[in-house]
Amino acid sequence: MTHSIGVDVGGTKIAAGVVDEKGEILASTRRDTPSQDAASIIAAIVGAIDELRADHAADVVGIGAAGFVDAGRSRVVFAPNLVWQDVDLRDEVSAATGLPVVVENDANAAAWAEFRFGAAVDVDDMMMLTIGTGVGGALVLNGALYRGSHGMSGEVGHVRLVPDGQLCACGLRGCLEAYASGRALVRNARSAATKAAAALPGSADRLLELAGGDPHAITGPMVTAAAKEGDVLAAYLIAEVGTWLGAAMGSFTAIFDPAAFVIGGGVADAGELLLKPAEDAMRRSVTGGNYRPQATIRLATLGNEAGIVGAADLGRV
Ligand SMILES: [Zn+2]
Repeated sequence: MTHSIGVDVGGTKIAAGVVDEKGEILASTRRDTPSQDAASIIAAIVGAIDELRADHAADVVGIGAAGFVDAGRSRVVFAPNLVWQDVDLRDEVSAATGLPVVVENDANAAAWAEFRFGAAVDVDDMMMLTIGTGVGGALVLNGALYRGSHGMSGEVGHVRLVPDGQLCACGLRGCLEAYASGRALVRNARSAATKAAAALPGSADRLLELAGGDPHAITGPMVTAAAKEGDVLAAYLIAEVGTWLGAAMGSFTAIFDPAAFVIGGGVADAGELLLKPAEDAMRRSVTGGNYRPQATIRLATLGNEAGIVGAADLGRV
């Protein structure tokens, strides 16, 4: 029985765990992500690994990192939310721990976990969409992670949906992420609550109540909570995100014809309130939609553990 250590490096937290061959986390630890320099981040990663190895033997390490990872699964080439650039993470962590190390994009790691142990264990072709602050994505095709020629495939959040549309965090306009992310949901909710108070008195009362009366204090979880209670405006705002998501999935279906889309991330907490509009929009936007089989849309099942579990398992592949 070989154990692997999975490390999930995000913009604010580094989470690491010892994972067995069935995808079970046997022990885990966390660190804040240092914001000074790459050396501090690497030291924090190595510290987490050493802590876990004190009680558990491990043969390999898999690191899932936010950012573009090269095709050699070694370097983080570009990471907008972290202070490193072109650091040889694999060699540095391997030298410090004496273990073989593989580096993957964090969205790839999460998708791999859902494919191996979570929502998509029964299919060979799947696409994962992680709807958090931004939109992440990854593809598993013919049972293998599809990395692309340069290791950078699956950046589905920046597929252009609307020419000259809303400004995206990436600097371009009209990306899926500018319409179907937690950030977009909050933007729309704040705007709607501001306008609704004047145009349709009462319609934003619940959202404003949750936000202490300040439309600019509305958060994504508040919108989800209100929608689940049956608030009409909140449910509409979630459905709007789902509809954009579905339109994009229709295009992805045309290209990849996957068996399943797996939806994760904080906005997926809305469940059917998000999935139903997404499914309706997807079916409307697939050519010949009434005459062909289409992908099922499923919620991710591994939650925040997916990054650790997927990175650990990819360390073995
Ligand atoms: Zn973008």
